[in-house]
Amino acid sequence: MDHWVRSLRRSKVSRLADRPIGVVHEQERRPSGDIVDAAAVFLAGAECPFSCVFCDLWQQTLSGHTPPGSLARQLEEALREIGQRSLIKLYNASNFFDPAAVPPADHTSMLRLLKGFAQVTVECHPRFITDDCFAFADRLDGALQVGVGLETVHPAALPRLNKKMTLADFDAATSALRAHEIGLRVFVLLGCPFIADEEQLDWTLRSVEHAAERGASMISIIPMRGGNGALESLAAEGVWRPVTLDLAEDAFDQALRLNLDDAVVQLDLWDLERLAVCSDCLEARANRIGAMNLTGLSESRVACASCGVGTARDRPRPPEA
Ligand code: SF4
Ligand SMILES: [Zn+2]
Repeated sequence: MDHWVRSLRRSKVSRLADRPIGVVHEQERRPSGDIVDAAAVFLAGAECPFSCVFCDLWQQTLSGHTPPGSLARQLEEALREIGQRSLIKLYNASNFFDPAAVPPADHTSMLRLLKGFAQVTVECHPRFITDDCFAFADRLDGALQVGVGLETVHPAALPRLNKKMTLADFDAATSALRAHEIGLRVFVLLGCPFIADEEQLDWTLRSVEHAAERGASMISIIPMRGGNGALESLAAEGVWRPVTLDLAEDAFDQALRLNLDDAVVQLDLWDLERLAVCSDCLEARANRIGAMNLTGLSESRVACASCGVGTARDRPRPPEA
């Protein structure tokens, strides 16, 4: 399976080991309702050793192991741009506690650079959530939050994603994080391969609920986008279909109605334009989602005369729960 997934990949985007890929300034709602300033830093490092069928993160990674010292230099440069923020997210397109991706010898210099942030978020596959993670959390000035991809709780689809993670692995990792008082952020897929179209929404909601039960304080719904090669091949086989913006909005509206007291649910806006079929209403719909990400409150749907969404000629919607 790994070979099949990797054989369908295009070439990577060329990246320098000494320059961060980018910095994004954001605002994020906390479960308390407070809105905080956050910065997401995209770091260039080694590729993840797993080969999930939906993943396109490898495109922005380096060949071989991350060179010692390079992440600290990237972080230093990013911090010059960030200024004072409460939260920082370090996304290295892999697993922060994989020694090939983040050399353990670099932890000390990174911990020094991260002083002053109230919360630091990194991402990691459950298999790499080990003592290195807990030691890093102990030495960190602020609180550590680990982002983990649950993807789906669908019992047949999860093993077929080639993530090499069972639901029991996810649950064990989240228990360990909780035991060490480390925060949890969870990514859940919408438009997951191997799930029937009419079941997509339901399984996304079940996955959101599971993440909340496991203690996630932030749950991001990620609409699947194609472009990694494997998904296009699965589409040709009829086991994957690109997500529509309609479905993404349906999922987000219903996820907000789950009333998860201790968790914030948000819909990932990245590349949202790729889900849209109508350019006339895209901006208004993206703004609506962005506002809902900040308030947690559902807003009325956008009506568009061009594509008919939200108008009398729109498709019938299921009754409200
Ligand atoms: S574990 Fe994460 S980074 Fe690694 S291949 Fe899967 S989705 Fe991509
Ligand atoms: Zn429209």
